[in-house]
Amino acid sequence: MDLIPFLNLQKINQPFEVAFLDKTKQLFEKGWFVLGDEVMSFEHDFAKYCRVPFCVGVGNGLDALMLIFRAYIAMGKLHKGDEVIVPANTYIASILALIHNDLVPVLAEPDLDTYNLSLESVKEKITDKTRAILMVHLYGQISEAQEMVDFARENHLLLIEDAAQAHGAVFGEHFAGSIGDAAGFSFYPGKNLGALGDAGCVTTHDALLAEKIRILRNYGSEIKYQNKLLGFNSRLDEIQAAFLNIKLPFLNQHNHERQIIAHRYLTEIDNYKIILPKVVDRKAHVFHLFVVRVSDRIAFQNFLLKNDIQTLIHYPIPPHHQKAMASYRKMHLPVTELIHQEVVSIPMSPVLTEQEVSHIIDVINSY
Ligand SMILES: *Cc1c(COP(=O)(O)O)cnc(C)c1O
Repeated sequence: MDLIPFLNLQKINQPFEVAFLDKTKQLFEKGWFVLGDEVMSFEHDFAKYCRVPFCVGVGNGLDALMLIFRAYIAMGKLHKGDEVIVPANTYIASILALIHNDLVPVLAEPDLDTYNLSLESVKEKITDKTRAILMVHLYGQISEAQEMVDFARENHLLLIEDAAQAHGAVFGEHFAGSIGDAAGFSFYPGKNLGALGDAGCVTTHDALLAEKIRILRNYGSEIKYQNKLLGFNSRLDEIQAAFLNIKLPFLNQHNHERQIIAHRYLTEIDNYKIILPKVVDRKAHVFHLFVVRVSDRIAFQNFLLKNDIQTLIHYPIPPHHQKAMASYRKMHLPVTELIHQEVVSIPMSPVLTEQEVSHIIDVINSY
């Protein structure tokens, strides 16, 4: 068997090749490359997809989160030095979005079963300076959504979602991107909805917030050369929006294909050395990643590679052990540290074949 790559982006995008090239030619002939009809149309359709009234396209997922917090500061709803509770095992982008706004990230332990913040760990970290919770739907799963919404409301906290890994996840009546006051999405090429470069957006129910972010992403300006706010240049590229418009109608199908593969992994992998992910609700998990835990991770990865299966680690070093976050180094976060020592992501994408999935299952069961 040929190597099964962790992710085959070429194969994922191949069915769209003709549509992408046609659209590129159209845009080239039209000559409107920034904030045009494609961005407007994507914002409209993605807002509808997430069941929210507003979507604002931005440059990438980090900017989406950063601009949400910057906008709340501009609106006077957050202030420098305010504490925001964030899971300690997230991708560092969630934390950078806070630090770059002079907000204080308060790292909370995730639940060892779901890898997401639990209400219990939020309660442990709340102080009189807490003003917001940044929940991360890590690996594609939403959990404890209603609990977080109720708790945030009772305690007058903003609830923000990092939905960069969870396009299309649904928890009960909650769609990713519609649970909190606002959500940041990334359309980095490898995400469940991926562009052919960097792209992102904010979704929200809040008209004022959407308005502020629209201004902030475009130099703080609504009317050309009039600057209301100290803004940024973080616009969703017209051509990336065009590619996303072509792919969005297939997102549910792609997620469904991921869920079918995940179901096979969950029911057919049977090896006491491998800890499988806990799925709280079938529709709540869109399996951006399929992450297992193994105590002897290097041996496991080598064994899989010898059998033509590429794996990756999400993530090898927790944020509080990163050089850039030296002041957090002394924190004691045993659950987070255990997760970072044991996780392995096995191949997961809508283009894996049945034979490839069978091979992966057989090899893991023979480990
Ligand atoms: C990918 C990702 C981001 C950042 O998105 P970019 O588009 O790469 O800036 C933020 N948070 C999480 C959880 C992610 O997986």
